[in-house]
Amino acid sequence: MSLAAKPAGPLPLLSDRHVDPHAYPDGVAYLDGQYLPMSQAKVSLLDWGFLHSDATYDTVHVWDGHFFRLDLHLERFFGGLEKLRMTIPFDRDGVAEILHNCVALSGHRAAYVEMLCTRGASPTFSRDPRQAINRFMAFAVPFGSVANAEQLRSGLHVAISDKVRIPPASIDPSIKNYHWLDLVRGLYDAYDRGADTALILDFNGNVAEGPGFNVFCVKAGKLSTPAVGVLPGITRRTVFDLCAEAGLSAVAADVSVAALKTADEVFITSTAGGIMPVTTIDGAPVADGKVGVITERLMALYWKRHDDPAWSSPVRY
Ligand code: PLP
Repeated sequence: MSLAAKPAGPLPLLSDRHVDPHAYPDGVAYLDGQYLPMSQAKVSLLDWGFLHSDATYDTVHVWDGHFFRLDLHLERFFGGLEKLRMTIPFDRDGVAEILHNCVALSGHRAAYVEMLCTRGASPTFSRDPRQAINRFMAFAVPFGSVANAEQLRSGLHVAISDKVRIPPASIDPSIKNYHWLDLVRGLYDAYDRGADTALILDFNGNVAEGPGFNVFCVKAGKLSTPAVGVLPGITRRTVFDLCAEAGLSAVAADVSVAALKTADEVFITSTAGGIMPVTTIDGAPVADGKVGVITERLMALYWKRHDDPAWSSPVRY
């Protein structure tokens, strides 16, 4: 496959201010019926996705040329569309085909692949969301991870922020969304305290989730992860599936800050990175400060299952 719209030669500067034409990751987007290099995929300033965060999305990864659990990501995305009363001119197979094309055109063997739908814009700038024309978009860029190689090896340093995740009574967290101001403020709290990333709280003061990930703790061989006010992550679901197969107990329940800090092991989960160890919380080591044995075992099982045809499907390059 080739990308017809690939720019030839150097890109022009947009203004007198220096604009780095290479600031876009190398990837391919689908927008308004066309496949484009990331640098050319632009949306209107009047799109409600941009003006009001009125959008839903999903992210699936491609590893070694295979999508991982694409069916579950499509299911969650179409669930979000329905709950937000958005319609797109594609069914699940149609979206899957566009995602395959984005990855194939990008040539990436390891990719971060996003499908998204915004409320769109109304041709008359009406304030009535029913007048807006919903807009489906997708893109594939190189695989990205919450944790870098060193953090994957020796564990992340996490700070617990006092910011509270937007409650489920306001936004149903099963609709994957861009309401991230709580998470981003938590992230700045974490950076101020010298940590790599943050966890924020639920409306009862228990641990909720972090910017783009769920969290698990292990105590006396049993796993738990926050039950309410969090995105039901596909990687979190995969941990439950792997635990069921491995005979490990895993439950969704309230996880207090104290329980997290006194856990034997802590890890976070995301499509962007998989299962990632946490070895310090608020500057204090988790147990002996080393990556735990159950975490290591689950990390190995998780990546091993990327070859399993039940959970992975080859990209149609
Ligand atoms: N929680 C939030 C807020 C997220 O944005 C994400 C992923 O982006 C996750 C959790 C992890 O979900 P998944 O495992 O499906 O990537």
